[in-house]
Amino acid sequence: MKSHAKAVVIGGGVVGASILYHLTKLGWHDVTLIERSELTSGSTWHAAGGFHTLNGDPNVAKLQAYTVNLYKEIEALSEQSCGLHLTGGLQLADTPERLEWLKMAHARGRYLGMETEIISAKEAKDLLPLIDEKHFVGALFDPIEGHLDPSGTTHAYAKAARKNGAEIVLRNRVMELVQREDGSWDVVTEQGTIHADHVVNAGGLWAREVGRMVGIELPVLAMEHHYLLTDDMPEIAEINASTGKELIHAIDFGGEIYTRQERGGMLLGTYERAATPWSPKETPWDFGHELLEPDLERIAPSLEVGFEHFPALKHTGIKQFINGPFTFAPDGNPLVGPVRGLKNYWVACAVMAGFSQGGGVGLALANWMVEGDPGFDIWGMDVARYGNWATLAYTNAKVRENYSRRFRIRYPNEELPAARPHQTTPLYDCMLAQGAVMGDSWALETPLWFAPDGVEAKDIVSFRRSNDFEHVKAECLAVRESVGITEIANFAKYEITGVGAETWLNRLMTNRMPKPGRIILTPMLNERGKLIGDFTIAKVADGRFYMWGSSQAEIYHMRWFENHLPDDGSVRVRAIGLGWVGVSIAGPKAREVLEKVVVTDVFNEAFRFMDARAMDIAGAPCFVNRISYTGDLGYEIWMTPEYERRVYDALKQAGADFGIRDFGMRALLSLRLEKNFGTWFREFRPIYGPFEAGLDRFVRLDKEDFIGRDAAVAEKETGGKLRRVSFIVDAGDADVIGDEPIWHDNEVIGWVTSGGYAHFVDASLAQGYIPKELADNLDEGAFEIEIIGERRKARINPEPLFDPQALRMRG
Ligand SMILES: Cc1cc2nc3c(=O)[nH]c(=O)nc-3n(C[C@H](O)[C@H](O)[C@H](O)COP(=O)(O)OP(=O)(O)OC[C@H]3O[C@@H](n4cnc5c(N)ncnc54)[C@H](O)[C@@H]3O)c2cc1C
Repeated sequence: MKSHAKAVVIGGGVVGASILYHLTKLGWHDVTLIERSELTSGSTWHAAGGFHTLNGDPNVAKLQAYTVNLYKEIEALSEQSCGLHLTGGLQLADTPERLEWLKMAHARGRYLGMETEIISAKEAKDLLPLIDEKHFVGALFDPIEGHLDPSGTTHAYAKAARKNGAEIVLRNRVMELVQREDGSWDVVTEQGTIHADHVVNAGGLWAREVGRMVGIELPVLAMEHHYLLTDDMPEIAEINASTGKELIHAIDFGGEIYTRQERGGMLLGTYERAATPWSPKETPWDFGHELLEPDLERIAPSLEVGFEHFPALKHTGIKQFINGPFTFAPDGNPLVGPVRGLKNYWVACAVMAGFSQGGGVGLALANWMVEGDPGFDIWGMDVARYGNWATLAYTNAKVRENYSRRFRIRYPNEELPAARPHQTTPLYDCMLAQGAVMGDSWALETPLWFAPDGVEAKDIVSFRRSNDFEHVKAECLAVRESVGITEIANFAKYEITGVGAETWLNRLMTNRMPKPGRIILTPMLNERGKLIGDFTIAKVADGRFYMWGSSQAEIYHMRWFENHLPDDGSVRVRAIGLGWVGVSIAGPKAREVLEKVVVTDVFNEAFRFMDARAMDIAGAPCFVNRISYTGDLGYEIWMTPEYERRVYDALKQAGADFGIRDFGMRALLSLRLEKNFGTWFREFRPIYGPFEAGLDRFVRLDKEDFIGRDAAVAEKETGGKLRRVSFIVDAGDADVIGDEPIWHDNEVIGWVTSGGYAHFVDASLAQGYIPKELADNLDEGAFEIEIIGERRKARINPEPLFDPQALRMRG
């Protein structure tokens, strides 16, 4: 083993091997992979080896497509076969709801360039004669699906990396990681110490333990997973002979099983509802190439359905049961990227579909390490999406839930129950008592809507408009016609202080900082000029700012802020978290409500739109911003948690004469739609530039230099490629939920980012991105948006439908 490497990758599973290969491909040849045992000694060796491109997150789907296309490249380079079988795949729907879900997946695939097809049960039977088609209502066909040899593939990555100069050290456990003052690492192994500029935790089943070596608890848990191999089946031999092809892959959602051909028989795997974690606290270091005891009871319910759906199985013997562990994050997507606060420590773990995702994960992480940016929108996989709230118990509950629901539908209005309530504010009980239906906002309980007396406080899950519709409408009307109150604790809040604070913020943000007592809105860009943040900033005094952003991105943003802090201590940034909570009042009567609970002057000239100041409310110290995401006259009121109940009660009492009404997140999101306001991670993401996103007025190219300025100048000159637009949709009983394709003259030209029903203006609205040229020529051609398999007429509405002159906010 060498004594120094630019990077040490810990773990020789498919993920570690892919990262090693991609690092060498991007020009880092001085890299070493260290493996405790042999290559593939974690989950990789006993995987079923299936791969596919479909994924609920389009950005993850892109990386999966990259992975599948990569295998030819590494085979050629390494001269090692990956054992590829590109059979194509069927996703079989046993209910109309499942077929609707597949239609949506198919529609999403269109703008990703996937050539999937929705077919009938009869056509599915033609492709997979083993099924009894009476159990199915249709299917999705995906030509880019198949399986491979897990060991061959891992060795192909490893050999290709070796050819490019990488070192691979086997039978050598990493025991300890010690960071030097300059941020580099001493990697202490059984065979001695190697000094590395960077370390990558690709420890798979032991990723948690490799995290603990540096004092972090990664939200990752291994689950037991079964598949079985049958004896050879004459039916399969016949299909092979008559078609000249191997059996097509299939997912049978009804049975919660996946199947494919393995030699002359079938491989059948299950995501058991009785999900069972493996080694929930610590993975034993001596676990090697061994399998777990199969538990037939656990897979019996799926097998019973399987026997009905695939009748030939009834008279086929089972040759072998395989039960092996592999890891998941709470939401089932990988954990990738640099860890906040730990210089040069990278993770790539919880990769539950290593053969669909390993290539993309390797590329994104290598890009990030070598170029400083993953090169894709990988938010769905970013390790920063979890904070320290993702504890061992939280992870355990969520991973079990996610695993057992792997083949179940998640409806857009469906809130999942595991690990809840996890975080609550002082208003939680009071909200419940008032009929709130709560949502899980990254582990914080947040009111979604309020069921009036006599109405059950529960969502009926659906892809279409549901039982909350009329109640959300009533909440929206209350805001627009008088006044509403909502809890807004689920924002990220920051305090930035120090003599260098203003200069630093000006360098990070595209907008110019405000004067004391004023607020600005501002995007934040990366070096490539893409959107990585969207903030509200208030200047309290010289050297003191408050800032608000998306709570789910708090760790993501703190990682960026801390990486860009000056070394001289002139700037301090603090994430306040739930150290502050808040409520917002909005609507034409909002000022009259506020006036009743303050001693400060808050008439329009005294407290103008975009003013911000500390103010006592009902005697409690608060900080108030005169802005509202509803697009109405409104105030955001922030306080420490011990005052939240007092302030809330006082505002409710003060608003009683005006019929003040509680409104939830769904009403808030509906109200913002009729103002064409975008949201972070929907309309604003690192794949869009600020001009494409319509944030022109917040980008001050005439101020001092800021990160991403050159790219922003270039985007302004060319106009970029895309435009965010808002549509009015001729919807039926279903509105867009996001990720639907946008059609123009029979071609898919864009995608929806978010939308829904705008209750006050009574219209179904959608926001999305289309090519700039089309947005500039609105008279040409006709737009349609595909909602649950139906193309619905849509027309661009350039002006907000509510208050386009923004008189209400300013009034
Ligand atoms: C039964 C079963 C079926 C599956 N079927 C599929 C499928 O069909 N398709 C699919 O895509 N995925 C499937 N998977 C999942 C797949 O196996 C994983 O996604 C993949 O193996 C993850 O790879 P990894 O490299 O992250 O982790 P691992 O394979 O666990 O590799 C981690 C490696 O790190 C090494 N290591 C850990 N700590 C240290 C240390 N301190 N020092 C040195 N080395 C260390 C370990 O020895 C191990 O070799 C299946 C898994 C199972 C169990």
